[in-house]
Amino acid sequence: ERRAALAASSGPGATSDGHKVPLLANVGGPADVPAAVEAGAEGVGLFRTEFLFLDDSKKAPSEEKQIESYRKVLEAFPEGRVVVRVLDAGADKPLDFLTPGDEPNPALGVRGLRSLLDHPDVLRTQLTALAKAAEGLPVHLEVMAPMVADRIDAKAFADACREAGLKAKFGAMVEIPSAALRARSILQEVEFLSLGTNDLAQYAFAADRQVGAVSRLQDPWQPALLDLIAMAADAAKAEGKKSCGVCGEAASDPLLACVLTGLGVTSLSMGAASIPYVRATLAKYTLAQCERAAAAARASDTAEEARKAAQAVLSGE
Ligand code: PEP
Ligand code: MG
Repeated sequence: ERRAALAASSGPGATSDGHKVPLLANVGGPADVPAAVEAGAEGVGLFRTEFLFLDDSKKAPSEEKQIESYRKVLEAFPEGRVVVRVLDAGADKPLDFLTPGDEPNPALGVRGLRSLLDHPDVLRTQLTALAKAAEGLPVHLEVMAPMVADRIDAKAFADACREAGLKAKFGAMVEIPSAALRARSILQEVEFLSLGTNDLAQYAFAADRQVGAVSRLQDPWQPALLDLIAMAADAAKAEGKKSCGVCGEAASDPLLACVLTGLGVTSLSMGAASIPYVRATLAKYTLAQCERAAAAARASDTAEEARKAAQAVLSGE
């Protein structure tokens, strides 16, 4: 039955009553594109550009090298959306030339957008390379910053994008609880939000994502995490239906994908391998069912109860 469901699964992501939820792929570079295309991804929801920077720990790749890599990804989705995240260095993704090696708590230090604002030349080169890579292509390029904490961060990023002459939508990742709490303020500066649920869980629960001993707190079904997601999705809606996607691991769990849809999330981005499963599951339920499952999950006290409550709603128990 599962195989039949997957075989029948193709086309754009939507609930059974036609509420569209674009299913996008997370990629690390051109090598991940074929699998994304094969899975029927409607675009890229998270292009993690760090991988391009890992070849040389001493300096950033040249503008030419960056253009070449970005263009290959952009060309693969001619009419689609491609959301590129500028370099997210630091903490679990250290880069010698960018991130301080002597911080007591690297996850709370100069990482993500913070390190780019300290190295404006690196950010400028990356944004210029993206602008050039997209030239003449019909693709809908969107560019977002990791680790945006507040409106000041969002404005600094939007200013840098404008200065680089980038013709794209600018967005902010919501992966720090302060950004979820004040999402409406951040949306005064940027056009879209993308929830990084891996880091959002890490910071909401003070539970290092690299420490297995605290993995219980990293469970994306935690009701407190669902509350933060709902806050960001509500803010995007209140600010005139701006988009608010999820690009963290949470989006790859088919049941949770239905709950995220019910919370008002507007797109889901995940590793290509998960797309057919998420598409097939989402297509089984109406938006109203997803909303009821989301409400039941949020009314729970623990991750396990939230999962069971959503499952019970969706299976009609
Ligand atoms: C996240 O934090 O959820 C995310 C999508 O980004 P990364 O896993 O690359 O930090
Ligand atoms: Mg992150």
